[in-house]
Order: sequence, then structure tokens, then C-alpha cells
Amino acid sequence: MLTQRIITSMAAVFSLPRLPYEANALEPVMSKETIDYHYGKHLQAYVNTLNALVKGSAGFEKMNLEEVVRHAPGGPLFNNAGQVLNHTLFFEQFRPVGAEGTGKPRARLEEAMRDSFGSFEQFKEQMAAASTGLFGSGWAWLAQDGQGELKIVQCPNAGNPVTEGMVPLLGFDVWEHAYYVDYRNRRADYITALWQIVDWDVVAARMK
Ligand code: MN
Repeated sequence: MLTQRIITSMAAVFSLPRLPYEANALEPVMSKETIDYHYGKHLQAYVNTLNALVKGSAGFEKMNLEEVVRHAPGGPLFNNAGQVLNHTLFFEQFRPVGAEGTGKPRARLEEAMRDSFGSFEQFKEQMAAASTGLFGSGWAWLAQDGQGELKIVQCPNAGNPVTEGMVPLLGFDVWEHAYYVDYRNRRADYITALWQIVDWDVVAARMK
């Protein structure tokens, strides 16, 4: 009985990541209402569903989140694990307008962007085009490949570049739930506004 309880308590339980800011701190770029629904309801639902799906699955219960995403065969397990990973990266990468780290990247990341895209400004243009041009629901990612090169990757639905052996550095959620409260159908305006709240120190710290 005791052994059973210990085994049960050791099972992987995924939890809602803590927001590194108050729910209203990203206004006017992202409203408190959007955070309340996007973080508080959509992400919480993905976390709850993921925990229900891995419960009792011998292999997946022992894995961390990224391992579940890389090993899931697809279907609900991949979709919910992917969305928990994606939204964890998403909500952790933002800070209030004008905060330390916002504005533009520091030397190492800026140089990597210059090597891969020509300049920080050209990176922003290409990332915005990938975000606005993605048909339907999904994510645009800035990722680092195995050679250390930066790439922009479009992923439908719950996709994340970890499944292609890349490190996700910055993710823009272009599901309608991410912007419809604040921007209605104007996805391009949402993307333009997001640049104001990206914490480039968080993004750079994800580089290998
Ligand atoms: Mn979302």
C-alpha cells in the first residue's frame, strides 16, 4: 500500500507555469482579459488534459515535457503536450513594455540574427511574414538548428521545432484565441504589437 502511494506520487504531473508578471502587466499589447482566458483557461485545459493522458502510461509518465513532445506518436498526447510546451515558452518570453530586456537583442543574439537573416530588422520582417502567412492555427518559431544556425519555422496546430531536433527560442502563437479579444481578425497588428513585449534576454538564454 505504501509502495503504491509512493509510486503514484512520483508520477509526472505537469503544472501551469508561473507567470513572471501580473495578468494586467502586458497591457495594452495583451489585455488582462486575454491573459485570463489564454493562460488561465486554454493553457490550464491543455495541462489538465495532458495529465489525464499520461496517467498510467508507463513510458510517458517518467518523461519531462520536451521528451513527451518528441516521443508522442501524435494525436491528443502530442497536441496537448505540444501546447503545454509551446505556451510555457510563449508566456515566459514576455515582459511589460519598456522593461529590461525588451526593445532589441544584445550582442550574441543580434550577431546570430545578422548571420542568418541579414539584420535584426530583416529577422523581424521574416518572422512577421511567417506569422501572418500561416494558414489556420499554429505557431511561428525562431529556432536554432544543430549547427547553431537560426531558422524561422512555421508549425501548424501544436507543432514545435523540437521534433526536428531544433531548439525553440521565440514562439508567436497565431491561434485566433491568442489575439481575437484584443485585435479581432487583425493578426498582423497583433504581431506588430508583440515586438514591444519580447524579452530578448529570455530568448537569448534559450540558445545553446
Ligand atoms: Mn494559445
